[in-house]
Amino acid sequence: MIETDVIVIGGGVAGLTAAITARKLGLEVLVVEKTPWFGGTAAFSGGAPWIPCNHVMREAGFSDTREAAETYLHAVLGDLYDPVRITAFLDAGPEMLKFMEQNSEVHFKSVPMPDYEMKPGAAVSRTLLTKEYDGLRLGDQLKNLRPQMSQLMLFGSLQLEGSDIHPLRKALTSWPAFKHTAKLMTRFVASRIAHGRGMRLANGNALAGRLLRSAIDAGVTLWNNTPARELVTEAGAVRGVVIEKDGRRVQATARRGVLLASGGFGANAEMRAKYIPFAAHHWSLQPDENVGDGINLGVGAGGVLNVDNAGECIWTPVSVLRKSDGSVLKYPHIFIDRAMPGSIAVDSEGKRFANEGGSYQNFVKAMHDKGLTTVHLIAGREFLRSYGMGLARPAPFDEKPYVEAGYLVEAQTLEALATRIGADPAVLKATVQRFNDNVAKNVDPDFGRGADAHSLFRGDQSHKPNTSLGAIGAGPYYALAMHPGDLSTVMGLDTDGEARVLDRAGRVIPGLYAAGLDMNSIMRGLYPGGGSSIGPAMTFGYIAAQHMSRNERPPTTTARPQLQAVA
Ligand SMILES: Cc1cc2nc3c(=O)[nH]c(=O)nc-3n(C[C@H](O)[C@H](O)[C@H](O)COP(=O)(O)OP(=O)(O)OC[C@H]3O[C@@H](n4cnc5c(N)ncnc54)[C@H](O)[C@@H]3O)c2cc1C
Repeated sequence: MIETDVIVIGGGVAGLTAAITARKLGLEVLVVEKTPWFGGTAAFSGGAPWIPCNHVMREAGFSDTREAAETYLHAVLGDLYDPVRITAFLDAGPEMLKFMEQNSEVHFKSVPMPDYEMKPGAAVSRTLLTKEYDGLRLGDQLKNLRPQMSQLMLFGSLQLEGSDIHPLRKALTSWPAFKHTAKLMTRFVASRIAHGRGMRLANGNALAGRLLRSAIDAGVTLWNNTPARELVTEAGAVRGVVIEKDGRRVQATARRGVLLASGGFGANAEMRAKYIPFAAHHWSLQPDENVGDGINLGVGAGGVLNVDNAGECIWTPVSVLRKSDGSVLKYPHIFIDRAMPGSIAVDSEGKRFANEGGSYQNFVKAMHDKGLTTVHLIAGREFLRSYGMGLARPAPFDEKPYVEAGYLVEAQTLEALATRIGADPAVLKATVQRFNDNVAKNVDPDFGRGADAHSLFRGDQSHKPNTSLGAIGAGPYYALAMHPGDLSTVMGLDTDGEARVLDRAGRVIPGLYAAGLDMNSIMRGLYPGGGSSIGPAMTFGYIAAQHMSRNERPPTTTARPQLQAVA
């Protein structure tokens, strides 16, 4: 038997934030992580939290007010606005950011990213980015950090930030871009020679790396390869967890509480089929181990899985490369190509159906609304060579392997392209003609692309007069199939403003907390801005830890063996 103050189930962003906070508040903390790696979905992510009124945006010269944030969230969430949990988030979010920056290695930077909806109260830079991190800072522990997905890196292990992409594209035509690229590549090559891989951690991998380093430094006990199997309950209260360690089931008791932070159910086929629209055609980007363990443990203890959200996941369009060995590479079209000038997305007939530069949430919602399970990104050769299409990177990378693998469809004319993707040649030709005519007038009367803050921000900042509107150029033409996909589930357990899990009658289940994707999203399947998952995940992890530090519970009589970190 093991006894500690706090047990955290899951070493992702919510779990590690909670663990660091609890430890800094003087509690003894055990994090059990099912896989060999810490970081969870967060290690694959953009590493961006959305936190209104944060100090980082203020220091960078952006303004925000509490009133504006509330107005905006009311406008986006409508009837789904939960005053208790939103108030808790807006109160504690900025405080959590400061706490983490002052007490850990976790540091953020401002970016001029607008909120995703053009609604009253919208602001710029509520979305922050994690500062890049040097993998060497993790030393031997780097092996315990979940690696980034290979398809989101260059040359197997070069992690890029959004701000690297433009310089990389322009490296041969602009001196500052050349200098930026040369520095990046020199560092990468040196790293490869010395360590066999790129050591620069960017985006979500930087966030996960920073959290892991901080948890180790704070003295959190971190056990990887240790899944939680059961909750230990006593008279309706949660007292601990049965974990599986080194092939043995061990009971661990928590004096202050247990936090469910196992990262939702994106990889659970049965739950996906039950809850996600068009599940058979949907591609999840979550790690294979995120199968709803925390939610199911919580439901077993009397908690409630909320099924009344506006959406079940953070959506993103996904293209898929089927490799000759039978494996698949999934590429999330979050922003890199979709919003760039010179491409459109069309349905099975060959008609546009959405603002291609809109948020990933809204783009896939439009697919759902129209029942589309395959759409095509369409562009001419100049676009492909300038911006790339999914896994097919821009020049000087070669697109031929992707054409040969059937990932990209190539044709000399739009009519031939339409025939190859099963669309109507006359319809596709007319769609392109109409789009190009409107581009010449710098308008998109059909879907408003290039007029909203999101598509303007995500487009090519050097493209005039509109960053997101550009004509479909000359052939050959390319089509890339995209399907609905998800960056993570958002349906989770009902909780209160202290992250405590509630039962069907709305009563607190003593000793049980949930954060991250195990907690029903405060955004309820809507997506106000980039980072609307990680921001609340970190904030409610922090809130749960704060509450546990105030929640004195009678110690049991069990002897306490010393916990030893094995990470
Ligand atoms: C490509 C991509 C980009 C994204 N970009 C962003 C972004 O920029 N901003 C944003 O807000 N969101 C983003 N997301 C979504 C975001 O990463 C997740 O919503 C977030 O990381 C969820 O955090 P979590 O702590 O709940 O879960 P996770 O980070 O997934 O952590 C859960 C951990 O629990 C472990 N676990 C599971 N079961 C058990 C068990 N039984 N016992 C012990 N451990 C267990 C898992 O192995 C995992 O390590 C992105 C997602 C993807 C895929």
